[in-house]
Amino acid sequence: MARTKILILGGSFAGLQIARHLRDFMDSEAAEITVVDRKTDLLFIPNILLELFEGKDPNASLLLSVPPLLEKDGSRFIQAEVLGIDPDKKLVEILPCERPGSASEHLPYDYLVIALGNRLAFDKIEGFAEHGHTVTDSFSGNKLRHYLYDGGYKGGPIAIGSARFHQGSRGQLDFIPVSLAACEGPSLETAFSLAAWLEEQEKGGAKNITMFTPAKRIAEDAGEKVVDQLLDMAGNMGFGYKHDLQDILRLTGEGIEFANGESIEAELKIIFPDWVPHAFLKGLSISDEEGFVITNRQMRNPDHPEVFAAGDAAAATVPKLGSIGHHQSFIVSRQIAREMGFLDTEAADEELYNPEVICYGDMGNRKGFYIHSNSWYGGQTQLLKTGRFYYDLKVGFKAAYFALGGKVPHWQWKMGTWMGDTI
Ligand SMILES: Cc1cc2nc3c(=O)[nH]c(=O)nc-3n(C[C@H](O)[C@H](O)[C@H](O)COP(=O)(O)OP(=O)(O)OC[C@H]3O[C@@H](n4cnc5c(N)ncnc54)[C@H](O)[C@@H]3O)c2cc1C
Repeated sequence: MARTKILILGGSFAGLQIARHLRDFMDSEAAEITVVDRKTDLLFIPNILLELFEGKDPNASLLLSVPPLLEKDGSRFIQAEVLGIDPDKKLVEILPCERPGSASEHLPYDYLVIALGNRLAFDKIEGFAEHGHTVTDSFSGNKLRHYLYDGGYKGGPIAIGSARFHQGSRGQLDFIPVSLAACEGPSLETAFSLAAWLEEQEKGGAKNITMFTPAKRIAEDAGEKVVDQLLDMAGNMGFGYKHDLQDILRLTGEGIEFANGESIEAELKIIFPDWVPHAFLKGLSISDEEGFVITNRQMRNPDHPEVFAAGDAAAATVPKLGSIGHHQSFIVSRQIAREMGFLDTEAADEELYNPEVICYGDMGNRKGFYIHSNSWYGGQTQLLKTGRFYYDLKVGFKAAYFALGGKVPHWQWKMGTWMGDTI
């Protein structure tokens, strides 16, 4: 009998977790599991800041090689650019990208998982290349590290915040609110940890920094009470704060101009852009009007039930948070296992998508913050904690992630939340 073909597009946090977790249910005789990614290494994005402010290259310690992990599981890895998806023909077009000059090919599937993340659209921000900084990959992390450590920064004002996020609405789950910012945890932790670094280097501190947001309030998905506490804390430390700026119009040598007519003077501008779906997803029957993949609470597409999505590529992932992607990955693996007869419906449906904002952020000086909240989606939980322990949890999670080869047991993920909540 032909083996079932499970094709996973994207081998980062969501895709790797799904590929590895699927092997808990089915061996390589039952299913051919193939992961396609343009990169062989997963970059542990959430810890770029920690490396940067220790003066280290993130590439030196944050890369996890994916192909050996899949090989060990009896799964395949293909290094290729995904060019397009045909959900009706159940085909994916890829271009092998190890070397230039390859010919494109089509891969068939029985089940497709879209875990391709998004395009971080710095190229939509006028003046970013000349005047902007960010911390979303090792190139930008290193650029900022050299700027700070090699005397580029002259002690002037600093602005840190997000461009406007464009969320889709077609087919969206009714408990997901509309957000104007894709993910503002990184803005907060960059501001806190940069302030600590400036103090340590005797170059200033929180008073140099203005945090800004396109939305009514920064990190509003963390819930009203948590945001009140965060803003109180930031205000007491001396941070400036601007909100409701709608979008970034342009960056200049002098600062940032916004769509609502305001501007912020800044020597250093650290920006988080719009999270934009990959162009080939837009216009597909499985996607919303922006190009995010529509799913139900089983993380499967209602019109093409053989198509699943997890992580930042899924329309339901708001905010774009790795911890939400982890939960969805757990759900996707179990739903595919159920489809293939390896799990009963009751067990597979035990957990359906039920989002919570869970975030461990760095604050510098070996301190961290912990947010656990679901009030934005109608729940009752709203927790903010700060201290050394939450920094240790953040660092400990990375160590565990690498030791486990990106396969985080669901109980461990739950234990992290339990520890954050109760200790
Ligand atoms: C600075 C920063 C800090 C963050 N901190 C946290 C945090 O502390 N906690 C948290 O929970 N979340 C955090 N996040 C969010 C988290 O990083 C994302 O939610 C997570 O990376 C999403 O995982 P993913 O697998 O869906 O997508 P990604 O990690 O974006 O992976 C997508 C994969 O698909 C591949 N790919 C994309 N397009 C193609 C293509 N066309 N062809 C082939 N391959 C392709 C990419 O190479 C990549 O490997 C942070 C984000 C940023 C930017």
